[in-house]
Amino acid sequence: MTRLSETSSGLAYHGGRMDLSPTPEQEALRAECRDWLRANLPWEYGQGFPPRLSDLAEEVAFLRSWQRTLAGGGWVGVTWPADYGGRGAGALDHYIVQEELARARAPELAGRIGINLVGPTLLTHGTDDQKTRWLPNILDATELWCQLFSEPDAGSDLASLTTRAIRDEAKGGWRIEGQKVWTSYAQFADWGLLLARTDPRAPKRKGISALAIDMHQAGIDVRPLRQITDEHDFNEVFFDGAFVPDDQLIGPLDGGWTVSSSTLTHERGTNPRQLVIHAQLLEELLRLALEQGSYDDHRLQQQLAEAYVEVRLFQLHNWRSLSKIESGQPLGPEGSALKLYWSEMSKRLHDTALAVVGDASPLWWDATGNPGNGRWQRSWLYYQAASVFAGTNEIQRTIVGERVLGLPRESQLR
Ligand SMILES: Cc1cc2nc3c(=O)[nH]c(=O)nc-3n(C[C@H](O)[C@H](O)[C@H](O)COP(=O)(O)OP(=O)(O)OC[C@H]3O[C@@H](n4cnc5c(N)ncnc54)[C@H](O)[C@@H]3O)c2cc1C
Repeated sequence: MTRLSETSSGLAYHGGRMDLSPTPEQEALRAECRDWLRANLPWEYGQGFPPRLSDLAEEVAFLRSWQRTLAGGGWVGVTWPADYGGRGAGALDHYIVQEELARARAPELAGRIGINLVGPTLLTHGTDDQKTRWLPNILDATELWCQLFSEPDAGSDLASLTTRAIRDEAKGGWRIEGQKVWTSYAQFADWGLLLARTDPRAPKRKGISALAIDMHQAGIDVRPLRQITDEHDFNEVFFDGAFVPDDQLIGPLDGGWTVSSSTLTHERGTNPRQLVIHAQLLEELLRLALEQGSYDDHRLQQQLAEAYVEVRLFQLHNWRSLSKIESGQPLGPEGSALKLYWSEMSKRLHDTALAVVGDASPLWWDATGNPGNGRWQRSWLYYQAASVFAGTNEIQRTIVGERVLGLPRESQLR
């Protein structure tokens, strides 16, 4: 059987069809990245896992130092312009690098919100001064960012947000009042990309601005939330008199909705990391099923076969979307279909994993730090969030229905 985690993208789009043969340049980039990872990974390439640290602050410190090393090799933000520390590479090059990182079991970056969301947003909407000031520090994790969008009463309906940015003409900026929630890594963030209402009288989407807020100031209270996995990745953030000066407005005043839409586009779309991770999870699962004898259970055989087909389909969906991007066409709302597909595939695969592991395995890593079978339960719990973050699956279905299939708009059905 083909090892899905080793099947690589490397495609071009010719007259509406995918060509999966990599160009010599793409092969060279992949080889360069793999060689670099073999030489620089802080664990054994192809064998080990990144260290699992029980304390989140220690883990973030380790991840920051890893990101600095990775950025030193030129493997972070490869699509960013060279002026800001990137390689000016294309979407396919980025995809190849992400595949290689996932294959090496490189962990998610400490600065992933900065790299994946804030950086691309600044590149599109930031001033030259803002790009020069923030982008290099995002690349090597000198500064971490958080995304301050969701509120207790504004998640799916983000335009209902009520956090206020109140004009202070004398000081030349805005005073911030309100609350955010589910803010990943806010406790470690140096900066936040904040959506706040600058004009409460304007229609909902028109009175919002995007602001970069310094997280190290009085008037900001970050309170970690405890998750089902017993970790504390995300937080409530309370603002009471924090200040944002004029030169930290991103994009036009009251134009934050457009800025946030470009941020959210980067949260969806092709997902080489999840693709390789799920292909690897599937391979481990098949191995485990063989070892434990559950492969002989005909009900599980069926589920395992379905898991294989689904991961393969996810791979093909990714490649089709990637070839579309490579041919210069925007992916647009089809990114929602990809997000929908992988999150549901992931949940089904994890259900199958628990059926294979059975009820006798530990819930967590054992005392020696060996992942053992306990990592499946932790992974099952973690991936329950996949159908919520970056927009819930109900919202993705509405987007696909309205903007891909052309069904009547939700607002017209009420
Ligand atoms: C792991 C994780 C990390 C996150 N990190 C961040 C972060 O760093 N920064 C940040 O700003 N946010 C973050 N979020 C928040 C995330 O963006 C929101 O949870 C998400 O947008 C949903 O909003 P909500 O939780 O308020 O749910 P709600 O919007 O209240 O939805 C509740 C339920 O109602 C359904 N629903 C709502 N509206 C509709 C509709 N119109 N049609 C059909 N069904 C509907 C939803 O699908 C959902 O099932 C994170 C979430 C998770 C799970």
